[in-house]
Amino acid sequence: MKQINAIESQVRSYCRSYPVMFEKAKGPFLIDHDGKKYYDFLCGAGSLNYGHNNPILKKEIIDYLNQDGITHSLDLATKSKEDFLNSFSKNILAIRHLNYKVQFTGPTGTNAVEAALKIARKVTGRTNVISFTNGFHGVTLGSVAATGNSHHRGGAGTSLNDVTFMPYDGYMGKKINTIDYLRRVLEDNSSGVDIPAAVILETIQGEGGINIASSKWLQSLQDLCHEFGILMIVDDIQVGCGRTGTFFSFESAGIEPDLVVLSKSLSGFGLPFSLLLIKPEFDKWKPGEHNGTFRGNNLAFLTAKTAIDHFWTTQELEAGIALKSNILKTRLEQIAKENLSSEIEVRGKGMVYGIDCILEDLASAIQQKCFENSLILETCGSDDHVVKLLPALTIAENELRGGLDILEKSVKQVMSKSDFQKKLEDETVQK
Ligand SMILES: *Cc1c(COP(=O)(O)O)cnc(C)c1O
Repeated sequence: MKQINAIESQVRSYCRSYPVMFEKAKGPFLIDHDGKKYYDFLCGAGSLNYGHNNPILKKEIIDYLNQDGITHSLDLATKSKEDFLNSFSKNILAIRHLNYKVQFTGPTGTNAVEAALKIARKVTGRTNVISFTNGFHGVTLGSVAATGNSHHRGGAGTSLNDVTFMPYDGYMGKKINTIDYLRRVLEDNSSGVDIPAAVILETIQGEGGINIASSKWLQSLQDLCHEFGILMIVDDIQVGCGRTGTFFSFESAGIEPDLVVLSKSLSGFGLPFSLLLIKPEFDKWKPGEHNGTFRGNNLAFLTAKTAIDHFWTTQELEAGIALKSNILKTRLEQIAKENLSSEIEVRGKGMVYGIDCILEDLASAIQQKCFENSLILETCGSDDHVVKLLPALTIAENELRGGLDILEKSVKQVMSKSDFQKKLEDETVQK
């Protein structure tokens, strides 16, 4: 740990919030150097939806390596790539009546976002893109230009161009339909906002504070996009791959985005793997126009395919998420109401939930206390005022309850020894 702090760049971040040396991980648990076991409700920021070291996926990797299966292949044709494509196209796309071409991008989420922005601009010949308040899309220049967070934007060191931000669903309060505003701006050729190539959005803003777009809002946005010939990009990097209860987060809204970005939990094993789904009519790339050395992570192809075959060809996982979603929601609402304030909002869907603590220092005090009590979770939102829970989708019910017990105990401890109660009252009276 000392060596890491001495040698690694100042840019390191998660290791500052959880200053122990981690050594092992299994299912929903992280285990540190001293053998202390933590519930992991951070889950690699949503990269470990099937838990750590899922035994079925691990066995595939070990067997494959033992047979000298190819690991790196640029974008050459390999058996594991074809197997992945076959399974993805049959078990994820076709069954949902979705038709997309699959583009393998560089392995990071942000690289796939860059590809989405590029192809949208190329296809439409327009430069502007509309993104939404509190949206997060990654930290390379194109993606960070579409990211609201000033901390990340500030790191760019150059001007961030060609993105206009519009209010996300609920940004102006529950009563105002922000699509009305967007429509007005697009219809008025003197609004000062150029018709964009694309809109880019998360259906639930993972970094932005677990803000949820309603189905109605998403449908109106899609209608607006169709009307103006704007491409709709859904960034499903964090809340895709089952997080909201279905494989894609937009399924319940009944929309069909033109471009969809997947990454984080796509490999199922925490291996780097991203892709962009493109409606066939927009697949106008020239060969190699957007490339990248690491587009052929065959271990990721293998685990992604196995995860699909195992988890997405029966109803079991989805039924389990629905059940555990109920446990999460009920319990979080109870914890918030009994210990914080009745004004505190619990937001979420499937197995992504946030407790909006209103106060930044309250959210971070809860996070730190949870860590002391062996539960790892993250805060999010514009002021880091939301405690975020992303347990593994495969977590057993009793383990989920175990983690929530720690959260409850930690919230009680934080509230008993501080003046947060008074601060919360002041804050909510003001509202
Ligand atoms: C994590 C994330 C990204 C960026 O992915 P990286 O792999 O970190 O580049 C983009 N969009 C969303 C919604 C994310 O959660």
